[in-house]
Amino acid sequence: MNNQLVFATNNFHKLEEVRNILDNKFKLLSLKDIACMEDIPETADTIEGNALLKARYVAQKYGYNCFADDTGLEVPSLDNAPGVYSARYAGDSKDSNANIQKVLEELEGKSDYSARFRTVIALIINEKEYMFEGIVNGTLIKEKRGDAGFGYDPIFVPQGYNQTFAELGSDIKNKISHRSAAVNKLKHFLLTKNV
Ligand code: IMP
Repeated sequence: MNNQLVFATNNFHKLEEVRNILDNKFKLLSLKDIACMEDIPETADTIEGNALLKARYVAQKYGYNCFADDTGLEVPSLDNAPGVYSARYAGDSKDSNANIQKVLEELEGKSDYSARFRTVIALIINEKEYMFEGIVNGTLIKEKRGDAGFGYDPIFVPQGYNQTFAELGSDIKNKISHRSAAVNKLKHFLLTKNV
């Protein structure tokens, strides 16, 4: 494989985070770099399905080797909701505060606040598909704490820590997060397998 790889995202922060982990060993292109301006459908009902949809869209329509990620917060007490619907849990406005409020409302009266973030990366190289998963286990708390990060970070305390992701900040979060776990698996694969 040549070392050009599309990461099917336009999220600058994600791109930088992944570039750092991949150590500049690959030339990572964003959707903007390949002039893909359309909204890629994310209509699957699983995290795996959405990651694959995005990766296939780019591979098939633009002809690049590429990977895409999809992430969800899974709460066992809520039958693993919000899961694949994490971004829009409280509606199409993708409002993080509203999403957090909805999760906490649904958890009222439950005793189990355990939760996990799960990221799946779908990679397509020379038309072959590969999947990588990263998980961070933790517990939700009833009130938001901290200002860093995004999404559900203010109510998620990762296992082994007393602070939320939003309190721990990006240096620590990026070392232990679901996304970095999945990207590290991707990196290991790219560097060790002859693709
Ligand atoms: P995406 O697949 O990375 O776009 O993530 C979907 C949704 O999951 C986001 O809109 C957030 O609500 C939530 N999410 C994903 N990653 C994180 C994270 O690292 N911290 C908090 N929430 C996250």
